Amino acid sequence: MNNAALYSQRPRDEFEILREKMVAYLREHYGIKDERVLEAMQKVPREKFVPEALKSQAYKDNALPIAANQTISQPFIVAKMTELLELSYDAFESPGSFVGRPKSRSRVLEVGTGSGYQAAILAHLTRMVYSIERIPQLAHEARKRLESLGIRNVVIKCSDGSLGWEIQAPFDAIIVTAASPKIPTPLLSQLKIGGRLVIPVGEDRNCQRLIRITKKESGFSVEDFGACSFVPLIGEHGWKQVQ
Ligand code: SAH
Repeated sequence: MNNAALYSQRPRDEFEILREKMVAYLREHYGIKDERVLEAMQKVPREKFVPEALKSQAYKDNALPIAANQTISQPFIVAKMTELLELSYDAFESPGSFVGRPKSRSRVLEVGTGSGYQAAILAHLTRMVYSIERIPQLAHEARKRLESLGIRNVVIKCSDGSLGWEIQAPFDAIIVTAASPKIPTPLLSQLKIGGRLVIPVGEDRNCQRLIRITKKESGFSVEDFGACSFVPLIGEHGWKQVQ
């Protein structure tokens, strides 16, 4: 028996099959087109990012609760926001780095590490991910989780991400995975020209708009990608209180 035959007979764990179904659904039902994003979603074991008791639900088409009253976003939202960052449009490094596929040279900032799942997806697509989480327990657990998966190009810090990460700026792309009543101005100033900021924005705690802002030579372009619902961004340039 040759290697290919052996490989095809390798028993596949149930999660790998669920992951394939999730990716097919993202492509066919939700119209996610960026193959690199879909490839990353096929690679990252989402079941490792949800609480033990919810493992069997890891691939459902919805958000799930994680520790500290927070959530891991629905797979579609993760895919959509990642696609909107347009990392595939940036310059790519030569093949051979990290997961075999060439990766974008972009430096990406994520605000709201949560479980670390979104950061893991970004880590497969780009050179360096800077991620900020305000809750120490979540930052600590996400660090451990990414380390155990061998993901080394994500740096997590615990602080108020609505202020951005000045010392690491400017960024090619910024993703905010918590909802803000308005766009935090420090994030705009920490974007490169041509850089994209993807963020849920709205005064309503339960329903926001998914917005993409692109920084131009002069000014910004703003696009609206529809309704969404995120936990609040708590900080100086977000909501002032938890509730
Ligand atoms: N991206 C996450 C989901 C995040 S849920 C994942 O893939 O699992 C939103 C997260 O934003 C929560 O963990 C919440 O604690 C965090 N958050 C809220 N306000 C924040 C702030 N000002 N700075 C950093 N993180 C914040």
